[in-house]
Amino acid sequence: MTHPFLNPSAAAEAPPGWHEADRAHLIHPQHHPVDHAAPVLWSRGEGAFLIDAEGRRLIDGLSGMWNVHLGHARPELIAAATTQLQQLAFANTYAGASHGPGVALAEKLSEIAPEGIEAFFFTTSGSEATETSVRTARWFWQSVGQPRKTKIISRDYSYHGSTGVAASVTGVTEFSQGFGPPAPDILHIPSPYPYRFEGTGQEAADLLEQAILREGPETVAAFIAEPVQGGGGGVIVPQDDYFPRIREICDRYDVLFIADEVITGFGRTGHWFAVAHWGVRPDIVQFAKGITSGYIPLGGIGVSGRIKAALDAAPPAKRWWHGFTASAHPVACAVALETIRILEAEGLAERAARKGKHLLGRLHAGLADHPNVGDIRGLGLLFGIELVADRTTKRRFGPETDLAPRLRRELFARGLSTRVLTDVICLAPPLTTPDAELEAIADIVTGAIHAVLPPVL
Ligand code: PLP
Repeated sequence: MTHPFLNPSAAAEAPPGWHEADRAHLIHPQHHPVDHAAPVLWSRGEGAFLIDAEGRRLIDGLSGMWNVHLGHARPELIAAATTQLQQLAFANTYAGASHGPGVALAEKLSEIAPEGIEAFFFTTSGSEATETSVRTARWFWQSVGQPRKTKIISRDYSYHGSTGVAASVTGVTEFSQGFGPPAPDILHIPSPYPYRFEGTGQEAADLLEQAILREGPETVAAFIAEPVQGGGGGVIVPQDDYFPRIREICDRYDVLFIADEVITGFGRTGHWFAVAHWGVRPDIVQFAKGITSGYIPLGGIGVSGRIKAALDAAPPAKRWWHGFTASAHPVACAVALETIRILEAEGLAERAARKGKHLLGRLHAGLADHPNVGDIRGLGLLFGIELVADRTTKRRFGPETDLAPRLRRELFARGLSTRVLTDVICLAPPLTTPDAELEAIADIVTGAIHAVLPPVL
């Protein structure tokens, strides 16, 4: 008999005992039972909405996990996956083998990727993309005769994934605690955080130069950064003068610049890739999430012509010994091609830029005077609203206030599902979210903050 979860007619209802089974057998990401005392059971997605097993319709304020760019249940994406499953569900791309969807996707990405990025390798996740970037940067330097260049400089508040190296590159220390020693040759510098750290973007970027000089440029392989910090810091948008200076510094000391566009890629911030906002050219760009609108896992990296030339020039025995069974999975590549086609055909990056400005304005209008709203920031359809206990001193709410779960519950009760990272409400709705729901998001957030933190008159 088909399991009740897999039976589409019954899937909208919660099968008896699901909660006990969940608690007993499912380990969730960043698992702690306290988070699952009263979990929601999602059963369906429809456009900008998620629907739970009790039939509640919630606006999907985070596009699933910052990835469902085209909204739920797009027939074209379902058709692309189904057609490819029927044609060729799997073939590997090792040792001279290739397939149409893999070649077509790499070629298409070479048209839309940041300037200078020429060739692509595919993974199944953003964490594997980070592993691949770091390995590739180190491999590159040894292949061109500089094997001492192995250090990776990352930033505080960054999130780059949960595998061994990716967790060590991540700038939130919790991810490395209790899992044994962190991966070697990785260091962190402060991130630009315009709300909390005074100074210009150039001054924040100069901390990279200081770190390179302290370590010795001959030992530094790469600098890795999310153009807008997402899951680690709560949507931190840098000053406009930050990344141009970063590029100058990387050029000066021959350090590779890895742009982690896992959240910001594929139109989220108003361009195909967010580095375009500042006209900077990465040596490696990494991506995942939105490339398939989250319908099937796919990630990867794109590399510059200089790195591609090194990959091609290495002697066979010293080749880039890296790869995964599912690299360039044909079904994932087919869904990615269709996602990109729709993003392009519907002008969704431009729409994200336009609607993002409007939504940011509406959030400001509703919240700028609230005494606990410290900062309202965003780029495209990616936003963070940072709450503070005291606006003058920017003092944070303590953990005893239980602020994040209280806000999450209030937002949910008002019809919005999204992520609250400690004291930052994060928003990243599907790029296709209709105007009425975008406005509703701003109104729900405004109402929820006023309800949870009533301004004292
Ligand atoms: N890099 C960034 C910027 C991310 O936001 C994430 C996940 O949120 C990752 C890497 C890791 O991606 P994944 O969860 O697919 O491994």
